[in-house]
Amino acid sequence: MIDSNALEKLKALLATPKKIVVTNHINPDGDAMGSALGWAGILTALGHHVEVIVPNEFPPFLNALPHASEVLIAEADFPKAKKAFNQAEVIFSLDYNAPNRAGVLEDLLLEATGTKVLIDHHQEPTGFSDIDFWDPTCCSTAQLVFELIEALGYTHLVNPGIARQIYTGILTDTGSFRFKTTTAKTHQIVAQLIAAGVNPDEVYNSIFNQNTPARFKLLGVMLNRMEILPQVNAALLYLTKEELQEAGYKKGDTEGFVNYGLSVLGIKVSAFFVERDNLIKASFRSIDDVNVNTFARTYFNGGGHINAAGGSSKDTMDVTLQKFKEAIHAFSAQ
Ligand code: 5GP
Ligand code: MN
Repeated sequence: MIDSNALEKLKALLATPKKIVVTNHINPDGDAMGSALGWAGILTALGHHVEVIVPNEFPPFLNALPHASEVLIAEADFPKAKKAFNQAEVIFSLDYNAPNRAGVLEDLLLEATGTKVLIDHHQEPTGFSDIDFWDPTCCSTAQLVFELIEALGYTHLVNPGIARQIYTGILTDTGSFRFKTTTAKTHQIVAQLIAAGVNPDEVYNSIFNQNTPARFKLLGVMLNRMEILPQVNAALLYLTKEELQEAGYKKGDTEGFVNYGLSVLGIKVSAFFVERDNLIKASFRSIDDVNVNTFARTYFNGGGHINAAGGSSKDTMDVTLQKFKEAIHAFSAQ
């Protein structure tokens, strides 16, 4: 649902050509990239000067998105990102709602003088923006972008490239239209995107049939020692830095691994920990009313959605796994 007050403010803001930055969250995923590129495409068609700036590198399977190669990666060229943020009259923050999710862009975002517009579907926004399009019931930021385009009366501007970008965001954030956030409205929008030129099999292949041998090696290692915690209906999965190195890991290779835990009979919450350079990244998935957003916020300095959230730990893997076990027992006893 698009807020009508916010819509009027946005119309006024975009009435004349503006210098615009469109940005998204650290470790951009399909929804972050698809929604940002799709929205940037509309703004460009409207005659604005638009730059898409992301905090850090996105996984290679998203290179197939139209205009992905023009995206500025702030970690690779920080001075350029800084200049664009300083000069921007409008900054759109897509698929996150707390400045600390912007990675290296956090300070630039907080110091920027341009009007800040949020388009997001995560829980508990911190309220850093001036105009908000926020709907935590929406399956994806990409769907919100489409709803916004509809509300503005610009669906005729949705060309095959923009349709593919938005479709990619919806496809990836709904787990291929299977999560319970997928609604009749989602499918109506997808129907319009297909009519606008999306080729579902081509998009699917470009995203999901990109497995590397390293990914399967890692999947084997991880599944082999999956731990089930029967008292709390939880599955625990992890991979260490050494294991990643040994398999020849590349960014994106462990994407979606957390879902394997959730596919086990009787499991209501799955946790996956993966060791990065200086921290351990956590992913949590759940079903029904097990709120992993609250769990991630309480125990792992994170957040997200009710059934999909993430966080991090600065402890060693052993300590992190032990802390998880204690935390999940305490959490389910509540
Ligand atoms: P994933 O497990 O795929 O990395 O993330 C699942 C969801 O949780 C995504 O919507 C993502 O934006 C959010 N998320 C992941 N890590 C963090 C984190 O460290 N902090 C917050 N606030 N959200 C996170
Ligand atoms: Mn999203």
